[in-house]
Amino acid sequence: MDFKSLIKLQNADELIIKISEIIKNNPSKINTIDNEIESSIETVATAKQDLADNQKKRRNLEANLQDIDIQIEKYKHQLNNIKTNIEYRSLLKEIDNAQNKIKEIEEQILEEMLISDEIGSEIKEAEKIAEATKRKLTIEKDSLIQENKKREEERQNLYKEKENISPLIPSNLINLYNDLFEKNIGIALSPVTDDFCSICQIRIRPQVLNELITEEKIILCENCGRILYWKNTS
Ligand SMILES: [Zn+2]
Repeated sequence: MDFKSLIKLQNADELIIKISEIIKNNPSKINTIDNEIESSIETVATAKQDLADNQKKRRNLEANLQDIDIQIEKYKHQLNNIKTNIEYRSLLKEIDNAQNKIKEIEEQILEEMLISDEIGSEIKEAEKIAEATKRKLTIEKDSLIQENKKREEERQNLYKEKENISPLIPSNLINLYNDLFEKNIGIALSPVTDDFCSICQIRIRPQVLNELITEEKIILCENCGRILYWKNTS
């Protein structure tokens, strides 16, 4: 019994499993990268919206200021036509209130200006981060895309290799291999070294061991059922 081709087949299959895992996982890694880039861009957009809101608030406050200024001018004009002391005092009181309101609004405008400066730096910082994130992650993404292409080629080559190997193996053996491959999640073959099945670690009986070494027939592991072969370690 020549196990060489069967071992090659098993090796090719194991590689195909490994490579397929990578090919399967890379798209979700790429997706994570896209989300990260997207989120850094959103941070910039949010900060820019904050700035727009801040500017709108300031414009409103400045419009309020103008309205009050006009109102005060009106009051002052009215002072000239006042008849009574009560009316006079009441009007002065209104003017006073309006001027206090102006001070209040001016303070608010100042506050909003400080906030605007902060948002301005936030935008710059967020833009810097977004730029760096995009630069770094685009490289990672490209290499994942390239890797998937390369792995796919490797996988196709392994399929071809399997097609070449398979005819060299007796059909009953290859059928057995395929059955075990399905059942054992990819590992149908187990080398025996130092008297043990290397997959399930059970000790092989001496008589079976002798049979293995002569390679005259197919022997399955009594415990895990895989095809055993003698691995000459010398
Ligand atoms: Zn076993």
